[in-house]
Amino acid sequence: MLNTLRRIVQEVNSARDLAAALDIIVQRVREAMGTEVCSVYLLNPEIGRYVLMATEGLNKDAVRAVTLATNEGLIGYVGTREEPVNLEDAASHPRFRYFAETGEERYASFLGVPIIHHRRVMGVLVIQQKERRQFDEGEEAFLVTMSAQLAGVIAHAEATGAIGGLGWGGEVVQDTRFDGVAGAPGVAIGHAVVILPPADLKAVPDKQAKDIEAEIRLFRGALDSVRADMQTLSSKLSSQLRPEELALFDVYLMMLDDAALGNEVIKGIRAGQWAQGALREVVSAHVGRFELMDDPYLRERAADVKDLGRRILAYLQAVGQQELVFPEHTILVSEELSPVMLGQVPKEKLVGLVSVLGSGSSHVAILARAMGIPTVMGAVDLPYTRVDGMELIVDGNRGEVYTNPSHELRRQYLELVREERELVQGLEKLRDVPCVTPDGHRMPLLVNTGLLADVARSLDRGAEGVGLYRTEVPFMIQDRFPSEKEQQATYREQLEAFHPLPVTMRSLDIGGDKALTYFPIKEDNPFLGWRGIRVTLDHPEIFLVQTRAMLKASQGLNNLRIMLPMISSLFEVEEALHLIHRAYGEVLDEGVDVPMPPVGVMIEVPAAVYQARELIQMVDFLSVGTNDLTQYLLAVDRNNPRVADLYHSLHPAVLQALLKVAAACREAGKPMSVCGEMAGDPAAAVLLMAMGCDVLSMNATNLPKVKWLLRQIKLTDAKALLDEVIELDNPHLILSTLHLALRRMGLGKVLSQAR
Ligand code: PEP
Ligand code: MG
Repeated sequence: MLNTLRRIVQEVNSARDLAAALDIIVQRVREAMGTEVCSVYLLNPEIGRYVLMATEGLNKDAVRAVTLATNEGLIGYVGTREEPVNLEDAASHPRFRYFAETGEERYASFLGVPIIHHRRVMGVLVIQQKERRQFDEGEEAFLVTMSAQLAGVIAHAEATGAIGGLGWGGEVVQDTRFDGVAGAPGVAIGHAVVILPPADLKAVPDKQAKDIEAEIRLFRGALDSVRADMQTLSSKLSSQLRPEELALFDVYLMMLDDAALGNEVIKGIRAGQWAQGALREVVSAHVGRFELMDDPYLRERAADVKDLGRRILAYLQAVGQQELVFPEHTILVSEELSPVMLGQVPKEKLVGLVSVLGSGSSHVAILARAMGIPTVMGAVDLPYTRVDGMELIVDGNRGEVYTNPSHELRRQYLELVREERELVQGLEKLRDVPCVTPDGHRMPLLVNTGLLADVARSLDRGAEGVGLYRTEVPFMIQDRFPSEKEQQATYREQLEAFHPLPVTMRSLDIGGDKALTYFPIKEDNPFLGWRGIRVTLDHPEIFLVQTRAMLKASQGLNNLRIMLPMISSLFEVEEALHLIHRAYGEVLDEGVDVPMPPVGVMIEVPAAVYQARELIQMVDFLSVGTNDLTQYLLAVDRNNPRVADLYHSLHPAVLQALLKVAAACREAGKPMSVCGEMAGDPAAAVLLMAMGCDVLSMNATNLPKVKWLLRQIKLTDAKALLDEVIELDNPHLILSTLHLALRRMGLGKVLSQAR
């Protein structure tokens, strides 16, 4: 059964378009289940009706001609109930509706299961039989499993058609919306540049060959290089491998022969595809054929073809890479954006970002917010490999991407771009005024930094120091651990740039989703694994070098503060303090004259919230990392778009945790800061101030908005607002209550437009 399922899904997956996919589904499911009829009805959201899209067994003429309202017939019934309907005699059911054109009167039994993707009913998969009998449990289970697997494939096929400007009825479609999550606020209109992961055939986009002969030459060159590699490999291994294993290389070489794979690719190029696209087509067709074979030996050959395809692609891309051209308004699109990719685009050309994976609290989104680039994360249904060169609208406020924008939609978004620009320009004059509420409460606003570029941006926006310097960022863009001297120079730049304002340097926080290529950590559950302080305590040499570099860098400036990430136990702080004191002693011994800097602990793990009282006794300040604290309190992976809807920093549990930390700091008479992204959300900042938070540290982009809002709202009003929302039990309600209250006070202009 599993094999049949796998085979059908694979075949459907490689279908040319939606219509072909649906035809395969009805044919194969009918065969596999031995029934007389199998049909698919899809819900067309434009007209709000189910349309018979494919059938085996009913009259083919009825395809696309028969449609039903969402409350009509058994199809509507399955869709509304969102569960299978299994009937021995369909015609006797009160919801049965007869369509003469289908010829279905001949079939008595009916089993319909909904096709649901991301909670949305997309259609209904039906099997029917003449014989009057109830389908058994096994059949029902098979169809449900089939439908669950096919839902994603159908959604993908539908989306692929839509971005090409065609609906599944063949009609022209515009303004196709793909939902993701808000990554960085703002909106952008531009042209997509798709960055592909290296040598991933699946990720190669369709592209017209600009110069067919040049593409063919490129491909032939790549073939020659792979052939040469194979020959070298084969002769290198000839003494270690058995002849039958070595024969594999001959198979490879044969496949590379012009008459085989090579020829097909060249045909594809002549038909207009670029070399990479033609290669993808040919390889995936061969792989598909091999994978469908019953013989396990031949099935294995699929892996060889894939491998070969990857090797050729690697050569094609090595040449192609230099050709990446960035248009004036570039929207960078990738399956998984990385900070390094952002660096590839000239700053003045980059207007928007779209990542298929990741969520609003992924580190790349944090970076995008710091850089002020509108970003959508987790656009999981966007067939991203197909959008290269297309015009896109990125709505980073709502987390939406539009393809084929209409004139009207473009006009609306251009207006939003203009409004946002005006708002930012209007806030520039706040740069040199302090953040003080109308009733005289002073709230220092600091910035989070990582890149050197953040420095100028932060000073430009009137930051009063650095509340979080993510030291791992300079580590991430190297290919080995930076030496003590190199680190010292990097840290010195930060400390000098902000002097005499304080700079809070966090000890190396790698692990989780922050990897160093030269220090790979492979774990099943990285966010619950070897992360932050856990890594550095296990590697005191890294911790000591870093601390010494920080201390030396601060000589004569004395504006350094040190902060420890991912603390979950008191003994970790004890050990870290011990190492910091040791590094301090060593630095003094070297004759460097610096005072001992204040040390703080980050509250990012629920355990630390419950031990905040004890922790604050050991250090000089606490700083809440709400990004991780939210993830761990709510058990919601901050990078997983599937659960991004559940990730709320305004969740009542997060607010209660913050109150607890604030109380601990107040009792100890020591400062509490918040340096998670929540601090940079103007509305949330009002609540944090009301809780008694002493410092807010945020991305430079949002700092002027937060400053503007806090300068408009009295501390007493903020406290009243906190009292009101703390009684509420639902994060959505908390957000809307907060926004409504602020709008009523006339303070709505800086609020995020998130859905
Ligand atoms: C946090 O977790 O809130 C935080 C500030 O650290 P990071 O986002 O770097 O994990
Ligand atoms: Mg963190």
